[in-house]
Amino acid sequence: SPYFANVPQAPADGILKLSVLSKADSDANKVDLGVGAYRDDSGKPWVLPVIRTAEQRVASDPNGNHEYLGVGGLPALTNGAQKLIFGADSPAISEKRVYTIQTISGTGANMVAAVFLRQFKQPADAAVYISKPTWGNHRSILQTAGHEVREYRYCNYGTLGLDIDGMLEDLRAAPRNQIILLHACAHNPTGIDPTEAQWQQIADVMAERGHFPFFDCAYQGFATGDVDKDAYAIRLFVARGFELLVAESFAKNMGLYGERTGCLHAVTKDAALVGAVSSQLNRLSRATISTASAYGAKLAGTVLQDQGLYAEWVENMGEMSRRIKDMREGLRDRLQSLGTPGDWEHVARQIGMFSFTGLSKQQVDVLRDSYHLYMTDDGRISVAGLNSGNIDYVARAIDAVVR
Ligand code: PLP
Repeated sequence: SPYFANVPQAPADGILKLSVLSKADSDANKVDLGVGAYRDDSGKPWVLPVIRTAEQRVASDPNGNHEYLGVGGLPALTNGAQKLIFGADSPAISEKRVYTIQTISGTGANMVAAVFLRQFKQPADAAVYISKPTWGNHRSILQTAGHEVREYRYCNYGTLGLDIDGMLEDLRAAPRNQIILLHACAHNPTGIDPTEAQWQQIADVMAERGHFPFFDCAYQGFATGDVDKDAYAIRLFVARGFELLVAESFAKNMGLYGERTGCLHAVTKDAALVGAVSSQLNRLSRATISTASAYGAKLAGTVLQDQGLYAEWVENMGEMSRRIKDMREGLRDRLQSLGTPGDWEHVARQIGMFSFTGLSKQQVDVLRDSYHLYMTDDGRISVAGLNSGNIDYVARAIDAVVR
């Protein structure tokens, strides 16, 4: 029989399937609220103005070339990313307790972290706990790396806010020394983040139980427009003395989606531990990608290393996060003034790229089939897909299916 005959069909990826369906729909009213990528007010992809400037600088660099990067990646990027995540004055950085390796965007950072933890986790049978719900790829990445995956409660599906009691209970009830995957900010898919006080409670319980924090940070600066605020949780855990890993993506906050630009950071208790940890991360990365991609790293590194460009980048992020906030408030206002059954305050209260609307799978199906409105089966919309040209239509369509 054929060698490949024993390969079963893989389950379809919800988001990728949705984008195929949406692309095939040529209706004039179509609105794609599926994919998590920023769109401007005319529904177009947006190259950040600061990235346009960086492109010109990279293109006109007389020493520019297409050589391989080193195994750790581009220092302009990795050093800049370290300061961005932990703060320029972070004691962990000055004490040389941080190692940063460039990765294939956030997904690659998650995968390197997952493989590293699979080999070196303590105890060897520790499971990885993910939020219920979480980014669909987390489970897939972790299971592909060979982890046992368990869930902690996160979303209160009644209020569409944080189930902090359930979350703390589950972190307490887990065996000691488990790995806990946390979204640093702008939780995907819910848009629900813990408050600063809640992060402190989470840190308390994790310290009590000896859990290891593994942060996924895909939206720093994109959530609130303030890179420091969006790094609050990570910096809190570092200040509390945790060792940890952070997977960082520059896809959303620099608009570098397809350039696959990201980093993985490891913070150790002691500078003496960095040598071995960095050698293993380098080895794993070498075995899978050899070296990371150069172009996006040069663009992001240029922005991070130049004060003027950095300031412009912060403004560009402010523009994205403000537009998204306006769309959240605009959708809530429209649903409230239409008298749409339900409380739509959560749409404005949630943060980041997504809103967890509370629409049922059945309502999502009707919106897609009868209104050409595309969102994931769990009722998540990418708020960045809304604009002044389609928001009235979207509100009326939601109103119609909810009644
Ligand atoms: N982690 C989360 C929570 C995400 O939402 C995403 C993107 O959707 C990623 C990681 C990784 O994205 P990328 O690999 O494009 O950086």
